[in-house]
Amino acid sequence: MRIILLGPPGAGKGTVSGKLKQHDNAAHISTGDILRNAVKAGTALGKEAKAYMDRGDLVPDSLIMGMVEERLKEPDCRIGFIFDGFPRTIPQAEMLDKLLAKLDIKLDAVINLDIPKQVVLDRLTTRRTCSNAACQAIYNVKSMPTKVEGICDKCGQPVIQRSDETEEAILNRLETYNRQTSPLIDYYDQKGMLRSIASLSSEDVVKEAIAALS
Ligand code: ADP
Ligand code: ZN
Repeated sequence: MRIILLGPPGAGKGTVSGKLKQHDNAAHISTGDILRNAVKAGTALGKEAKAYMDRGDLVPDSLIMGMVEERLKEPDCRIGFIFDGFPRTIPQAEMLDKLLAKLDIKLDAVINLDIPKQVVLDRLTTRRTCSNAACQAIYNVKSMPTKVEGICDKCGQPVIQRSDETEEAILNRLETYNRQTSPLIDYYDQKGMLRSIASLSSEDVVKEAIAALS
């Protein structure tokens, strides 16, 4: 599959990507994960991106596009790919159209996770993420706690609240989504590529997405 997952922060794009990937081995391309790894590794890209991310603002398009092009050229993307958290702006979507045309790749669909605002707010404030860059497992203090408090079940490293998951940064991320990213819903709808899914459980979302793609 060659798809884009669209939806507000906290819609479950990461979880759904993980499950879709098990389905057909497509590469999971999360620009947020790539950026967080760059911040941890202290690369030039990471240093430039960190301040934007901590505020809940978008990282400039120019930094993102270089990163995405490099990633798309890696061999695992030949099977397929799932974009999670990209594109985030109309200019990114337009540049992606050009990039895909250049690489002679065709998208199958854009899956829009259509989740009420109150649900995403609640999910984000209770979310915890494994601090190990190679793991990044996601937990939720209410609905999916770790077995031992504060320790990742999978790798034993501490789980943390992301620095952009304070209440203030979360509200800013939602605002940023509404202003800059939600226009993509119309953008892809007009191209006839949009499939909206309103289910709240990731299992149901995955089932509906697979049905929509076949
Ligand atoms: P979420 O979907 O939970 O908001 P992500 O992990 O996708 O979080 O992204 C975290 C942060 O990384 C964003 O708030 C933003 O600063 C930056 N980021 C990720 N993807 C992009 C992108 N495509 N364009 C610009 N900034 C991005
Ligand atoms: Zn872990």
